[in-house]
Amino acid sequence: MTISAEVAGRRKTPTVQVGNISIGSGHPVVVQSMTNTDTADAKSTARQVAELARVGSELVRITVNTLEAAQAVPDIARRLEMMSCEVPLIGDFHYNGHQLLQQVPECAQILAKYRINPGNVGFGRKRDDQFATIIELALKYEKPVRIGVNWGSLDASLLARLMDENASGSKPRDAAVVMREALIRSAIESAGQAESLGLAHDRIVLSCKVSDVQDLISVYRALGERCDYALHLGLTEAGMGSKGIVSSTAALAVLLQEGIGDTIRISLTPEPDQPRTDEVLVAQELLQSMGMRAFSPMVTACPGCGRTTSTFFQSLAQDVQNFVRERMPEWKVQFEGVENLSLAVMGCVVNGPGESRHADIGISLPGTGEKPVAPVFVDGKKHVTLRGEELTSEFLQLIEEYVHKHYPQRFPAEDHT
Ligand code: SF4
Repeated sequence: MTISAEVAGRRKTPTVQVGNISIGSGHPVVVQSMTNTDTADAKSTARQVAELARVGSELVRITVNTLEAAQAVPDIARRLEMMSCEVPLIGDFHYNGHQLLQQVPECAQILAKYRINPGNVGFGRKRDDQFATIIELALKYEKPVRIGVNWGSLDASLLARLMDENASGSKPRDAAVVMREALIRSAIESAGQAESLGLAHDRIVLSCKVSDVQDLISVYRALGERCDYALHLGLTEAGMGSKGIVSSTAALAVLLQEGIGDTIRISLTPEPDQPRTDEVLVAQELLQSMGMRAFSPMVTACPGCGRTTSTFFQSLAQDVQNFVRERMPEWKVQFEGVENLSLAVMGCVVNGPGESRHADIGISLPGTGEKPVAPVFVDGKKHVTLRGEELTSEFLQLIEEYVHKHYPQRFPAEDHT
């Protein structure tokens, strides 16, 4: 894979172990996601966790907001085990986490990490006690904790204190600057408080999520300079469709390029007909297009132009992309390194043969006025020319054969003869 600019070395952090996944410096940036089912509905939640894990979410967070939700966690874990799904589950707690973790010890034991928000772990004098209870439970069950500050639920007393200090200073700063400072301080001070209660430095992950791209970059740059905790990145409330994808990518790409960020989530609002798993695919595509990780074969396709006379070129590109997605869960178990496969689907002779030669396997379709044949290139050399109605199925067959021939089998087929 060609990378046009060097990715900065990753910021040094301790390694945080979350179940079987290692987070932090030296380990690949981890993709995570979150369910949107009612956690108390164990069947639906387990099914969605398994779907997210199947497409590649390496950690899955679930809301634990009620006693019923906490009581459903063991059932969810049992169902996942029956599906051979080993993804670590993270519990997302707000307001009553200290109670739920005590009331349902099996839930506290099963979850691989607790996520708490210092802005709503408790209010007034109760805040410190409730925060301490959760940290003590994390110690008891040997769990890491993500201290996840959020713009929309910032610790009101801390913000008020910083606003007052700012107003009485000789050169008051802009309110937005004070707000960003409050986010950063809330995360770092809460982490310090957790450590003073005994939680190890390498059991803490921090996040400071905001919904504005420039604010997110600014907050995480400061966080990265002021502490060495592992960091979870995400633009909160990113939105729907292309808006959510572009905003998240714009913010996270800048930070990742600077070596900031150890886990990521793309917080997309799913469109009514879109699956929850889209957020995982976007996160993977972001990391893969930056040359940081390889998850799935990349399909290079030209945008098409006046030289492409029909929609066949678009449907072939879509069919190839869908084929790869459908086959990948099986391929990745069976063939070592298949995620590095590169494919090209090009619309005409202008860039078609050149781009196809750069891919492991590429096809150059005929454009306007060209002979109705499509040369296929394999490992840089012309391999075969396809034509006619079976072109799509023949090209997909060539891809399947290429995978079988070029990637070593992890578990060679047993000889039953
Ligand atoms: S490869 Fe051909 S069809 Fe595709 S964008 Fe370029 S000129 Fe247009």
